[in-house]
Amino acid sequence: MRSFGEKFLRFLLPSQCHCCEKFLEEDRQGICPDCLSKIRWIEPPFCTLCGVPFASGEIKNHPCGACMTREKYFTMARALGYYEGPLREAIHRWKYEEKSCLTSFFGEKLAEGFHRYWDSRSFDLLIPVPLHLKRLRERGFNQALLLVKELSRRTRIPYSKRLLQKRIPTTPQVNLSGGEREKRVRGSFHVQRDEEIKGKSILLVDDVYTTGATVNECSKVLLMAEAERVDVLTLAHAIKSP
Ligand SMILES: [Zn+2]
Ligand SMILES: [Zn+2]
Repeated sequence: MRSFGEKFLRFLLPSQCHCCEKFLEEDRQGICPDCLSKIRWIEPPFCTLCGVPFASGEIKNHPCGACMTREKYFTMARALGYYEGPLREAIHRWKYEEKSCLTSFFGEKLAEGFHRYWDSRSFDLLIPVPLHLKRLRERGFNQALLLVKELSRRTRIPYSKRLLQKRIPTTPQVNLSGGEREKRVRGSFHVQRDEEIKGKSILLVDDVYTTGATVNECSKVLLMAEAERVDVLTLAHAIKSP
């Protein structure tokens, strides 16, 4: 947590770009025009299931190899941008350095992305990918819940922050393969009050889609609680650039 003095000082100082630290002339929601123009947003063609973008040679959207071989419990996952460059930097700072002014920037982008693929009638409920209580105490907030609140405000779809919970902490999974990640997260989420999930169309929200193991496991437990369908929206997709 920042001290009050530090917060006050920041209030007096001109704002800086959270990616390159250049001073901003006007309020650009924390990202300068240069950095903004360098963010690569995901465009078709991409995998119809997990949303991973394909190299430019492909023409149509179709399921990717990974989705053909590993079962996906969500109906479709979509991400806004590539997890690289300024977007990666901005997400990182937002999460670890409490750059809360980025929350509304991400919220706005998320709502734009949402309306590209769905509309407000598509879902009954927004659910953030939960953090384990221990991690939540360390960080002080769940970044996925911040996104869900922003999206809920803009789409008027209600959200729930407690129906899906993480009961077993998992260690950071940065260097693990998809299969390993799947094993690690298995059984780590659970639904409280199945009756509130039953028959609902749910959009799961998180900051980054990496191998999809986490959102897939969340989708699985939501379907076990008889959700009608589960889709996924993230800020970024961590794939190697084509
Ligand atoms: Zn910048
Ligand atoms: Zn796929």
